[in-house]
Amino acid sequence: MYANIIIDISHEKVDKVFQYRIPKELEGRVVVGSQVEIPFGASNRLRKGYVVAVTETAEYDTGRMKEIAGIVARSVTAESRLIRLAWWMKERYGSTMNQALKTVLPVKQKIRPKENRFIRRLITAQEAREAAKEAGEKHYQARQRLFTALADMEEIPYQMAVNQMRLSASTLKPLAEKGIIALESETIFRNPQVRGQGERQRVCLNQGQAAVVADFVSRYDAGIRETALLYGVTGSGKTEVYMEIIDHVLREGRQVIVLIPEIALTYQTVLRFYGRFGSQVSIINSRMSAGERYDQFERAKNGQVRIIIGPRSALFTPFPDLGLIIMDEEHETAYKSEISPRYHGREVAGYLAAMTKASLILGSATPSLEAYTRALKGEYRLYTLKERAKKDSHMAAVRVVDLREELKDGNKSIFSRCLREAMEQRLKSGEQTMLFMNRRGYANFVSCRSCGEAIRCPHCDVTLTFHYGQKLVCHYCGHERKVPDRCPACGSPYIAGFGTGTQKIEELTGKMFPKARILRMDMDTTSKKDSHEEILSAFAQGRADILIGTQMIVKGHDFPNVTLVGVLAADLSLYTSDFRCGERTFQLLTQAAGRAGRDELAGEVIIQTYNPEHYSIACAAGQDYEGFYHKEMVYRQVLGYPPSCELMAVMASCGSEEELETAMKALGKWVSEALNVREIQVIGPAQATVYKVNDIYRKILYLKHENYDILIKLKNHLDEQYRLAPWRNHVTVQFDFA
Ligand code: ADP
Ligand code: ZN
Ligand code: ZN
Repeated sequence: MYANIIIDISHEKVDKVFQYRIPKELEGRVVVGSQVEIPFGASNRLRKGYVVAVTETAEYDTGRMKEIAGIVARSVTAESRLIRLAWWMKERYGSTMNQALKTVLPVKQKIRPKENRFIRRLITAQEAREAAKEAGEKHYQARQRLFTALADMEEIPYQMAVNQMRLSASTLKPLAEKGIIALESETIFRNPQVRGQGERQRVCLNQGQAAVVADFVSRYDAGIRETALLYGVTGSGKTEVYMEIIDHVLREGRQVIVLIPEIALTYQTVLRFYGRFGSQVSIINSRMSAGERYDQFERAKNGQVRIIIGPRSALFTPFPDLGLIIMDEEHETAYKSEISPRYHGREVAGYLAAMTKASLILGSATPSLEAYTRALKGEYRLYTLKERAKKDSHMAAVRVVDLREELKDGNKSIFSRCLREAMEQRLKSGEQTMLFMNRRGYANFVSCRSCGEAIRCPHCDVTLTFHYGQKLVCHYCGHERKVPDRCPACGSPYIAGFGTGTQKIEELTGKMFPKARILRMDMDTTSKKDSHEEILSAFAQGRADILIGTQMIVKGHDFPNVTLVGVLAADLSLYTSDFRCGERTFQLLTQAAGRAGRDELAGEVIIQTYNPEHYSIACAAGQDYEGFYHKEMVYRQVLGYPPSCELMAVMASCGSEEELETAMKALGKWVSEALNVREIQVIGPAQATVYKVNDIYRKILYLKHENYDILIKLKNHLDEQYRLAPWRNHVTVQFDFA
């Protein structure tokens, strides 16, 4: 037996694998993740390394191969666990070990260890509140954010101020010079745990919340480690429940990972955790540099940080004694990786929790069908919160408007009469409206009115999207061109844009309500680093009457003054090629509805649709999750989609169509060789939704089976065959579990 070993546990060294012989007496004890001692280099100096694979095949001359000297005692480190996790991900999702290791290991990049600095106010809380008000009146947004936070807490970590609140030195320095705030380093503080804590009022949990916490804690203390699903409507106080449970786990001396999708990770959310746990909390996000991330992971490893909050990659925090993983908004698509290994955060969290003897809590107002099904089967413990936590906060009243009727009555505008009236009312009463489009950039293409040709990307199989400034952009490869004067196909000068993107809606809204102050948030307006937070906080501060946007606007923020949410065309997300589009539509609409009336003001939601009968829309309007769940499950069962059946996609891509064809034929043959064909359902091969991207053609074979393990075996078989195929260097094959 041989072991592949990496010496240095870092992203860059993963490609440098050394093979060693496993001596007889260590056979069976050297496993993936073991830390071992090996003679290294010409001097055979002993060095430590980690085993990343155990194999029977020697890749080098066995005569010259050295032997492992021994296993390092007590070597089950956070690193060995990460390597085992990578191994599991490789097996489970079909990637190379390198890809898996690169996913779980941080990029080692030392930054000069930054002192853990704090911004501390030297004025009173009341003065900070007044300063926030004044800054708001003067439109000093950054200052307003700062003082709002400081009104709640005596100090905030510098790192959070820069990363989440987007404050810069040019804002902070003058205030420090005037003695309004002080920038202090950690060394001043003796007791970091209590800093920043206490001033923010802790809520008293209601009965429902308290019952969840009590049940969870008693089972946790009894040593039961399990996965729980916390199904609680928007605003039911799930976050408060998490914090109470986290508190308990920290007291036992263990650490906690909190996963929150990046778009929901606003500084308000961060402040809540910080307000409760002070500097034990650290946040990671995708805007951080590799060095900053590495620094966070080091601090987690050393015990300086005990709670990490972040997107799915936060799962790979090397905590020494992980006790709990929380995955908020468990249903979010952002938890699935779209690059190899194409893992789902929910499953990786489950495996990691089992490996580290931690518990896992999944939370959602609209649980994924997968999670709810497991909860109903008793595989997950189910907790339910049906009511909003704040007194006087009620679920909004929802109205569905049939756009077909509007058209029949001669209303061709994007606003139904009912939505228009409701918006006018809000403008009069000084309340706010959110207009929501549940898909971005749809049908926003330019086509010829003479011959009907749409202008397409020359490299991809899609139409180019029209952007203002007379520009056409490919959303797949970034190809850009000016809008031509004449149709490239027939030369006709009559070419025009179609469809209604967010920009167009902004324009139409401006025309309909000329006095309204309008903000728009979509991919175009938020591509700048800090614009996302800027737009949301401008709206939260009441500096606009109407906010128009895609799904980005329905996450995270509390907008107490929003009393109307309009969904312009609820059907848009219903017709995508994904079998989960009904679920997605239901989730988006439910979440959009959850934005209205978060406070004392009553909320109203108007959903415009061409399909009022569709259960995704009807159930969202009725805020009926169970109803939706049962109808959607029937559909999944009839068509054999997850969670009623397991589904694996085998995706092949190649620059030559002929070679791709050869590959698809071979893949099909291998499937039928490996299995009794009747056992497994094969669909395709079909062209990918977008057949050509960047001049590469893509085809997909779908394989369905009730049993997951059989699909994994099949995947391994296909992978082995692929490695022997003559076309292996021309065709890329990837696996994706739905
Ligand atoms: P969720 O995470 O389920 O959307 P949150 O935890 O964000 O809900 O709570 C929604 C709002 O209700 C927050 O402003 C929160 O401070 C408040 N809240 C939560 N629990 C309570 C409680 N027991 N008493 C009073 N207010 C509460
Ligand atoms: Zn034409
Ligand atoms: Zn393109």
